[in-house]
Amino acid sequence: MAAIELRGLTKVYPGGVKALDALDLVIPDGEFFALLGPSGCGKTTLLRTIAGLEAASGGSVLIGERDVTGTQPGGRDVAMVFQDYALFPHMDVTDNIAYPLRIKKVDKATRRDKAAEVAARLGLEHLMDRRPGQLSGGQQQRVALARVMATQAQAFLFDEPLSNLDARLRLEARTFLKKLQRELGVTTVFVTHDQAEALAMADRMAVMEAGHIRQIGTPAEVFRRPANTFVAGFIGSTPMNLLDGVVRGDTLEVAGCKVAVPAVAEGRLSDGEKIVYGVRPEYMTYSGEPAEGGMGGKVAIVENLGASHLVTLDVNDVIVQTVVPEGSEPAVGDDGYAVPRRDRALVYRDGELVS
Ligand code: ATP
Repeated sequence: MAAIELRGLTKVYPGGVKALDALDLVIPDGEFFALLGPSGCGKTTLLRTIAGLEAASGGSVLIGERDVTGTQPGGRDVAMVFQDYALFPHMDVTDNIAYPLRIKKVDKATRRDKAAEVAARLGLEHLMDRRPGQLSGGQQQRVALARVMATQAQAFLFDEPLSNLDARLRLEARTFLKKLQRELGVTTVFVTHDQAEALAMADRMAVMEAGHIRQIGTPAEVFRRPANTFVAGFIGSTPMNLLDGVVRGDTLEVAGCKVAVPAVAEGRLSDGEKIVYGVRPEYMTYSGEPAEGGMGGKVAIVENLGASHLVTLDVNDVIVQTVVPEGSEPAVGDDGYAVPRRDRALVYRDGELVS
């Protein structure tokens, strides 16, 4: 087990793409750390540079306080699980799991014992003689995990390991993986496109954009208090309302409506300054009647989310979205009022959170 530390880590690919731009990051020993961000922001590059599969162009990588920047992947003592699991199709489950031990020249009997022990933990013991082609996606994923566990590496690096699973299996695998990581206590870096996955699994997470880290925090911090409008717009299954506004004395004018200054920004704004007002659709209540502090408009769209509905209001030609519980959804064309929660709304100045 070991902490991972990145100091000024930079990666420029041949051709000039700067995939990582002087990143600093400390992941404490035993932490489950998720990396999230839009396609092309550098997540995979970051993971591969930690693993040593890509050489850093600048800065350094430390694993357990040891500087491994110039060390080959084999000498770094980390194990990586790829999106496609990278199992060997011609080897059975035992040999796939034991492969890293064979590379380390561990004798055959010990390899078999270790493979069996790890496989039992993952419920794979009845599949040991099968080849990857004879396994389901979920089983293949467990074999890939078992192979990582068999190595007893100091850190696990996962590159979207659940993306090939169907929705139900993915949820199961999520719980399972999280539990396993807790039990083993191995420092884990987990790359995903899926923010629900990151929010559910991570102790802490980073949101990346174009080679930079835009926020690091616990899932609750990143969800509740996105540090900037990029993270605010990126995190959340329904995007946050980010509305242009102006400070008018001790209130805000947003989409032609008078709105209370959010609690976090109280006393921090100047009259007349331009701001962006941010509030998640989940943090607004909907009313069919005029409501104090509400933003009134016409219901333009009503979308079914299952146990709730997403209501899109046209407020003086500005789109405002709010989530209403099942059974209380309005009809398109109704007059409606969205009332933000003062304790959950946020204000951004020049793209950065005012707090
Ligand atoms: P995705 O979520 O789509 O997998 P990502 O966040 O993992 O994306 P990376 O794969 O790390 O992003 O890519 C970061 C940037 O580096 C992108 O602009 C990409 O086009 C570029 N890139 C990645 N690999 C190479 C390479 N081998 N040569 C040149 N450029 C590359």
